[in-house]
Amino acid sequence: MSAPRSFGLRDADLLRHQPYINGAWASGDGIPLEVTNPATGEILGSVETITPESVAHAVAAAEVAFPAWRARPAQERGALLEKWHDLILQHADDLARIMTLEQGKPLDEARGEVQSGAAFAKWFAEEGQRVYGEIVPSPANDRRLLVFREAVGVCAAITPWNFPSSMIVRKAAPALAAGCPLILKPAETTPFSALALAELARRAGFPPGVFNVVLGDPAKIGKVFTGHPAIRKISFTGSTRVGRLLLAEAAQQVQKVTLELGGNAPFIVFEDADLDAAVAGAIAAKFRNAGQVCVAVNRILAHASLFDRFVERFAAAAAALKVGNGLEADVRFGPLITQPSLDRITALVADAVAGGARIVTGGKPHALGGLFYEPTVLTHAAPDARVLREEIFGPLVTIQPFADDAEAIRIANDTEYGLASYFYTRDLGRLFRISGALQFGMVAVNTPVIASAASPFGGIKASGLGREGSRHGILDYLELKTVWVAGL
Ligand code: ADP
Repeated sequence: MSAPRSFGLRDADLLRHQPYINGAWASGDGIPLEVTNPATGEILGSVETITPESVAHAVAAAEVAFPAWRARPAQERGALLEKWHDLILQHADDLARIMTLEQGKPLDEARGEVQSGAAFAKWFAEEGQRVYGEIVPSPANDRRLLVFREAVGVCAAITPWNFPSSMIVRKAAPALAAGCPLILKPAETTPFSALALAELARRAGFPPGVFNVVLGDPAKIGKVFTGHPAIRKISFTGSTRVGRLLLAEAAQQVQKVTLELGGNAPFIVFEDADLDAAVAGAIAAKFRNAGQVCVAVNRILAHASLFDRFVERFAAAAAALKVGNGLEADVRFGPLITQPSLDRITALVADAVAGGARIVTGGKPHALGGLFYEPTVLTHAAPDARVLREEIFGPLVTIQPFADDAEAIRIANDTEYGLASYFYTRDLGRLFRISGALQFGMVAVNTPVIASAASPFGGIKASGLGREGSRHGILDYLELKTVWVAGL
């Protein structure tokens, strides 16, 4: 093996191989999990997993930790989150390196993710101190009506591999800030990023049982989470398929559920758009992380008057993107995560072409081989082509023309998903009309950037339930308690 076991980290102790339970690194009792570098195919190492029974023990430890953690003043919980935030930033280079090695995204993008993830720790450290209750005007003079917000209880989180660091902090920080212990099950393909965050949480000094990371069979662990009466909330980011499953299973214990699921984002270029900005924005919102992003552009709609110009410029910009190992300089996107992901992209292109689509650029696995795929642009896809109906999750996009605003809106909303949407215009009236008409949880106007710790992130329809980030992000980890005081 050419890769050094330390991954070339400055702080080799960030590379952990065991579950983190009740404030300690635990021994695995399940089948070890091998982790592969998607850029090279080499095995990076393996991590220990645990059985569902041991996961239940982790839940029990969190249950024991809950009363004292909830009772800590929010300022103290926030101070620990601030420490975690500072440690994450201090070790951003190492965390980025771990991420690029196991996930494949370019190093700069990985560092950006680590930093934007850390921002959630800071945001919720502060937000936890602003969990205000209410004093409601009483309907009777001898009574008072008070409303408190209280920590919901032990929470579970299941996170994906495409943002293996920020998705974790985005869930853990509001849970911990609200006073809820958390059991996290990260994605099997990217466990080292999760375990490095656990090591930094250990160093930050969270009490035992408050933050736990378990690895093992995902379906079985999901069942432990949904079947356990102590777990009061589940937060999931991943596919709509698994989200539906967890939502149904969570019915048993009537758990709160937050779901960030798939998307099918339209990117609309109106006739008055700044074309340069629209091309640059579409490139950024499509090819970041090789298109493996729930808010990635899935369908570009370009007004008929500029369709040909847009296609030409966008395809030229896409074709110029450097594909390669994320550790190399200037690489704009890396490999797909696994062979099935690559096979899916190949199948989506074949399906579209069979239905009449034309390949403007790309259209096949990259000459680099392995899990690399060319930046691919299609036009003339049939309305029922899979590439227009399904979430793509790869460096592939279609461009289609539209005649007027009404047609753009009709096409954009014609999807079961409702996560992100984008459009470019310089007309103020159109800006408000179109953002009002788009059936999506998030609308980005004249920008490819749609996420920040300060803004509510989430979707409608089959894209999910609830919001993460912003002041709303902590509310899902809280319950209202109404207190009537009588006989005054
Ligand atoms: P993707 O297809 O992008 O990997 P998934 O929804 O399959 O998306 O995975 C997201 C997360 O859900 C991962 O952590 C994965 O292990 C977990 N997961 C997959 N299947 C299940 C399941 N049946 N129950 C609970 N979690 C699951």
